[in-house]
Amino acid sequence: MVCTLTDQSFRGEGRSKKDAKLACSRRALEVMFGHDFNNPDKMSESQNPRTITEIDDWMELEGKNPVSILNELYPGTQYTLMSSQGPSHAPEFILKATLGTLSVEGMGKSKKDAKLHASKALLVHLHKVGFDPATGDLLSGTAGGAGSLAGQSDHAGEHTWADMIGQMVNQKFSEMFCLTTYFRRKVLAGVVMTRDGVSTVVCVSTGTKCINGENLSLAGQSLNDSHAEIISRRSLLVWLYDELLKVETSNEDNVFKPAKDGGFELKPGVRFDLYISTAPCGDSRIFSLHEEPSEEFNLLSGPSGDVGEGSRGKLRSKVESGMGTVPLPIEDHLVQTWDGVIAGERLLTMSCSDKILRWNILGVQGALLSHWTKPIYLSSITIGSRFHPGHMSRAFFDRYSGDSPLPCGYMLNKPLIIATTSPEARQVWKSSDNSVNWILGCGPEILNGSTGKTLAGAPSRLCKSSLAKRFRELGNALHVKPRTQVDMKKPANNKIDSYSKLKMQAKDYQSAKRSMVENLKKAGAGKWIKKPVEQDLFYI
Ligand SMILES: [Zn+2]
Repeated sequence: MVCTLTDQSFRGEGRSKKDAKLACSRRALEVMFGHDFNNPDKMSESQNPRTITEIDDWMELEGKNPVSILNELYPGTQYTLMSSQGPSHAPEFILKATLGTLSVEGMGKSKKDAKLHASKALLVHLHKVGFDPATGDLLSGTAGGAGSLAGQSDHAGEHTWADMIGQMVNQKFSEMFCLTTYFRRKVLAGVVMTRDGVSTVVCVSTGTKCINGENLSLAGQSLNDSHAEIISRRSLLVWLYDELLKVETSNEDNVFKPAKDGGFELKPGVRFDLYISTAPCGDSRIFSLHEEPSEEFNLLSGPSGDVGEGSRGKLRSKVESGMGTVPLPIEDHLVQTWDGVIAGERLLTMSCSDKILRWNILGVQGALLSHWTKPIYLSSITIGSRFHPGHMSRAFFDRYSGDSPLPCGYMLNKPLIIATTSPEARQVWKSSDNSVNWILGCGPEILNGSTGKTLAGAPSRLCKSSLAKRFRELGNALHVKPRTQVDMKKPANNKIDSYSKLKMQAKDYQSAKRSMVENLKKAGAGKWIKKPVEQDLFYI
């Protein structure tokens, strides 16, 4: 028999299954924690090691407090307070639990909470126990979740994955911004790319603001939406453009390869995982705000209700230069007009929950890049706080009934939606207009969410016009045919078509989008609101 602990395997032999199990678990404990089972004298009473059958019994005690389980199983576990930060009314503690060569950290608003989260994480790593997403109770065994990670379909794998994604994004953000005032933020987001088991942070971002209507740009030079997760997606686009620009020279390292039917596709084994430090605004968050946090876990408790119940599942709009969302106006024929918005009419921007739903249908690559690549879908979304599995899955995919077929390559993507083991402490900083982004290979950029430009007033590398320029660069650089009927070469008048026309020429993308909009409307979610058409009429 072989048992596996934190990616190491240990063999054991015996005359019965039970004996073999005992032998391999002893071997594991010997190697990992230095227990010597052949010499019982060496073990003091206080260490009180337990046999694996007892461990199994313990794991069956669902709902048991992780700290007491750890105390019983591994009395040698040591706890170290790593840091205590934050103002007195909202402190944040980080505590490390160490056992043998294994160390994990837990975070919490009290030392007790931090200890609890550290113990839970350690148990998860040691025994691959998981937590029931609905109740927050401990689960033993390896029941598969909805969606699964390569080779890790168990709950523990999901938690470990969520913690890793969360840590990588937080670490990169600290590395880049910890000595600056931009470290004070409300929402943090980031994308991690994993290829053949190696994970790399591609981008991180912060932000909670949308543009003031008066700052809309007719030249595609300001960003409409600077919420952290939206900025992360645009940052990912920049990285994807860079990758495509290199595709013909760096075949081996590139994540793309030529696709049979034109353009490019991701190589097998490449995945993108999104991290957001809190539930995205709109349908996933609004109901989560009323839910009670479960005491010991990064989970909210309470039934999520059905679509349609108390406006669950409705499309919502962000509030111009404020936080939060409001239901969309009910007029069926509502169209946002340029003169209306400039004259002070409220600018409507779809909520982050709605945009994530859209990424799960149309992909994250957007209309322009779909000329070059097949739709690219997120593999998982990790939420750092206010995680409610019911509200999240409804908002991100379940409210789309999807009965009309989508064009070839498009689908309703259902990424794994997971929570980090420790909930992120509430960010008490006053909300600001600042929004930062860092992109692998490009460094940091600081934006003002209300103007949609950099602090110096220049267009961001993420704005429509900047991305359109990269698109044109691609057309001039690549020798491979695009996937669509689009002429990307620069004509004699030194301009190519308007941004809007290039978007419209992405026929499959547009047809998938129409299907999505009609479907949501039919399901009673409301009408997807577009920005004034004038925004996309600029030439590139
Ligand atoms: Zn948002």
